[in-house]
Amino acid sequence: MSTNLEARPSSGDPVDDATAERLAVALRCVTVSREEGAASGAEPAAAQASLDTEFRRLGAHLEESFPRVHAELELEKFGHSRLYTWRGVDDTRTAALLLAHQDVVPADEPARWTHPPFAGVVDEEFIWGRGAIDDKSRVLAILEAAEAALTAGLRPRHTVYFAFGHDEEVFGDTGAVQMADRLRRRGVRADLLLDEGGVITDGIVQDVRVPVATIMVGEKGYATVRLSVTDSGGHSSMPGRQTAIGRLARAVSRIQDHPMSLRITPVVTDMLARLRPHLPAAKRRLLGFAGAAAPVVARILAATPQTESLVRTTTAPTVIRGGVKANVLPQQAEALINFRILPGDTVESVLAHCRRTVRDAQVSIELVGMSAEPSPAPTPGPQFGLIAELTRQVAPEAAVTTGLVPGATDSRHYDDLAATRCNFAPIRLTAADLERIHGNDERLSRVNYGRLIDFNRRLFTALAEPDRTR
Ligand SMILES: [Zn+2]
Repeated sequence: MSTNLEARPSSGDPVDDATAERLAVALRCVTVSREEGAASGAEPAAAQASLDTEFRRLGAHLEESFPRVHAELELEKFGHSRLYTWRGVDDTRTAALLLAHQDVVPADEPARWTHPPFAGVVDEEFIWGRGAIDDKSRVLAILEAAEAALTAGLRPRHTVYFAFGHDEEVFGDTGAVQMADRLRRRGVRADLLLDEGGVITDGIVQDVRVPVATIMVGEKGYATVRLSVTDSGGHSSMPGRQTAIGRLARAVSRIQDHPMSLRITPVVTDMLARLRPHLPAAKRRLLGFAGAAAPVVARILAATPQTESLVRTTTAPTVIRGGVKANVLPQQAEALINFRILPGDTVESVLAHCRRTVRDAQVSIELVGMSAEPSPAPTPGPQFGLIAELTRQVAPEAAVTTGLVPGATDSRHYDDLAATRCNFAPIRLTAADLERIHGNDERLSRVNYGRLIDFNRRLFTALAEPDRTR
């Protein structure tokens, strides 16, 4: 790779073989996070030992590949999570907190992949493997850019942290939470927090004919509600009016049929205002009256699942279990309903909504697993302009807008530690590419990876030279 920032390739340039290979090696480390109780096919102790080995391999690969970073930045470890401190010339202030995660979700259908998910195959166009997008490319791109900046003698004006978690996919309790805690106790308050979330999409935002770069400024909350019914059971020849399964099914369908209400939040208003110039005239006029026509706009957005998630707390019944035999009345039936919570609603209001909607004292309703409140008041912060400007530099073809991360990321653990939060990477993806994340055939093009590295280099340049981008 280039050792001179001035001679760096333009953003349309694919990464060279050596750079692609460094990412591919990381993809060959099987750093898979599994939710508790999910079978890995091995004994728990053996599975943990092999996971530890994979994380250590990844760590050793990073240390070998980025010698200057590891010589000049301070590194603290929290389990397999890595917190790097890049001291600023003036270290009384923190410029940025860059988050990324080293763990990946499992690849449950390896036979359906073009290349085995952990083979780390590089071809002319793509780097293939679980984690190529989510999120090892961001770990490596930050380190590639930092290594280049150090080689060029660049130093940030104010301190920059990299926090690379190891358990984001299982909610970050032993990684992100610990690192955030350390920073909090140190009194860190960063100007900018940058993490995964939004990307540049092609053909996903209806009626917008240019690619859309969605710099997300917060995230939705998360809750899973368990509905369960217990019954005395008995023989199916004398079932009574309703079995446990019938009662549960009615409760699930009530919840499914009565979603929480549609609402336009300030971040959606902001998003639409930024997209407005790129919309056809008729839609533009409609949005011009968005204040008056908010219910209309909400209904338009609610028409497709991709945009519906912007205007309401979504309801997804995801698991149902009950019964053992066709001629035996079930004694137990349960269902899990996953909610992604819009700012303004809360975990508690979701639970209250379920109770109100089910209206059946025989159905018990409770929260299970991880839950998280939505970002309190997501808005573009003061440093949003810097990220938007860097995005325009590396992807001049894209319309830049804001948005909300539909899922939970590690950044929620750091929300109070930064004045501006952006969830974004400038990689350009189609709808099919988005399905590869957590799906089959995850891959990142060399061009996208090149742009991601370039974006981080430009960020470090901007943080080193005050007047360059403002
Ligand atoms: Zn991720």
